[in-house]
Amino acid sequence: MTLTSERKLIIAIDGPAGAGKSTIASRLARKLGYVNLESGAMYRALALKAIQNDVSVDEEAPLVQLARNSWIKLEPTLGGNRVLLDGRDVSQRVREPDVTDAASRVSVHPKVREWMVEHQREMGVGGGVVMEGRDIGTKVFPDADIKIFLDADPVIREQRRLTQQHAKGAAAEILSAELRERDRRDRTRAVSPLAAAADAVKLDSTALSEDEVLQRVEELVAKKLAGS
Ligand code: C5P
Repeated sequence: MTLTSERKLIIAIDGPAGAGKSTIASRLARKLGYVNLESGAMYRALALKAIQNDVSVDEEAPLVQLARNSWIKLEPTLGGNRVLLDGRDVSQRVREPDVTDAASRVSVHPKVREWMVEHQREMGVGGGVVMEGRDIGTKVFPDADIKIFLDADPVIREQRRLTQQHAKGAAAEILSAELRERDRRDRTRAVSPLAAAADAVKLDSTALSEDEVLQRVEELVAKKLAGS
């Protein structure tokens, strides 16, 4: 299987939390020498800024204003995206539970999404990019060279998240409930709800190892690069 080519693809990986998008996107990008961009980190950065500035995550206009006055940058590293907000490294902070919840709320607003999509397109337009999120194949890059919708059984996704966060007992129950609520919000919002693009390849990682998922994705890339 050959993965080297002059051609620089745009690869979109969408799906719900816990399906394994981040790991697959970062491993794939490394293998191809591409840039891996976690679009969710941008929603997280804006959510953090809202928290810091006491701006309600439920009001669209002040959030858009805040976004326009923000400088959000993703820097791919081997361990995931470094997230810069107005020049400060907030990579750790944006993964904390309050920001996770706020990011999910921030992302329902159509004009916030417009701002995000515009910036995400700028970052990926040259190709050589694996961008992951919820609306990359449907909205950000509807003409992406490869679209993957990575899903898994909700129980398995929850278990993976709990293992990642070392959560047990009551903390695990809270985390599971929050994950379900974020999923619900993502799937039911009016604009760009989480859904597979009509031409996406659907992969279910429930019974697959990371290596097996990666193998299937690499086969798709090899096929595309071979011109089929
Ligand atoms: O992927 P991650 O969990 O970091 O994303 C944080 C939040 O941002 C998600 O809960 C989702 O609501 C939102 N998001 C989105 N569209 C994207 C990426 C993330 O709505 N493309």
